[in-house]
Amino acid sequence: MGERERIKAVALFSGGLDSTLAVRVMMEQGIAVTALHLRTSFSYVERNRLLGGDPVEPTGVERSAAALGVPLHVMDVFEAYLPLVLNPRYGYGSGVNPCVDCRIFLLRQAKQWMEEHDHHFVVTGEVVGQRPKSQMRPTLRTVERESGLRGYLFRPLSAWLLPPTIPEQRGWVDREALYGISGRGRKEQIALAERWGITEYAQPSGGCCYLIDQVYARRWRDFLSHEGPQALTRQQVQLMAVGRHLRLPSGRKVVVGRHERENEYLAACEVEGVWLTTCDHPGPTTVVMGTPIGEEIEQAARITAGYSDGRREPVVHVKVQSAAGATELLAVEPMPRERARALMV
Ligand code: SF4
Repeated sequence: MGERERIKAVALFSGGLDSTLAVRVMMEQGIAVTALHLRTSFSYVERNRLLGGDPVEPTGVERSAAALGVPLHVMDVFEAYLPLVLNPRYGYGSGVNPCVDCRIFLLRQAKQWMEEHDHHFVVTGEVVGQRPKSQMRPTLRTVERESGLRGYLFRPLSAWLLPPTIPEQRGWVDREALYGISGRGRKEQIALAERWGITEYAQPSGGCCYLIDQVYARRWRDFLSHEGPQALTRQQVQLMAVGRHLRLPSGRKVVVGRHERENEYLAACEVEGVWLTTCDHPGPTTVVMGTPIGEEIEQAARITAGYSDGRREPVVHVKVQSAAGATELLAVEPMPRERARALMV
């Protein structure tokens, strides 16, 4: 067995195009790769999985790894990740995305995994200049330094644009057979995927998590100012990425489903609250968070009726269900959409 065949790399793996290609490039070089997927609970693939949508994580990540023929290791990191979203040392991007801290965190996890499992270096699908902040050259350097992976962090898609790493210096990988991809375009990556017949990847483009989304950022800040950081749970952070979010004049939060999949998600969502649905007309599932009083439930019922097919009726019946299973029926006047929109977070 030649030296290269004994070399093992661990790849940070989202199941997206770039990390899929990075793994494939390593395989072309005869490196044994393990794909490491770190679940933060903020990724689009996870949200889509919750909503039962497209073939996505875990199946998407699993399918991408299976299509590549590499072992996949999935680690849930939500608890350790949440504090850095609340207090990022390097600040936020355009939303509440702590991209630099996020990369450092994920790479530290990968480093630890690498050391515990006798692997030689860490691979990522990062591309120089692809994202505004976290993938600019100076930031790539900061991230490498802060992760403790200096020299052992290998970015094969942009390798020609970066100083040689230890895997290249030691001849574990052939620098000549790597790539010099940069920028936001995806042409080169798509061409590579076509060349290798790669069709299985979880997200074709765009950001990797919804912390970058402006609407999500608004809801996040609103949640922190009303409920406070101590109230953030996995369910709450995921719920903020689903449905319409409204604040009643009392400050009570109401979440209204926008389509069937969101309605199903809200109906099954494990939070403290009261659930509302319309009886005689198709309509949304609504959750009123916490323990609302009668007046708040009535306002939420009017909102629910206003988003139902009965919105032009003078009166709509709404079923109110507590977490304990008690139900009650309310007859309410649907709230006009403009009034509901004014309550939107
Ligand atoms: S956009 Fe990507 S790098 Fe930035 S915080 Fe989200 S997962 Fe991390």
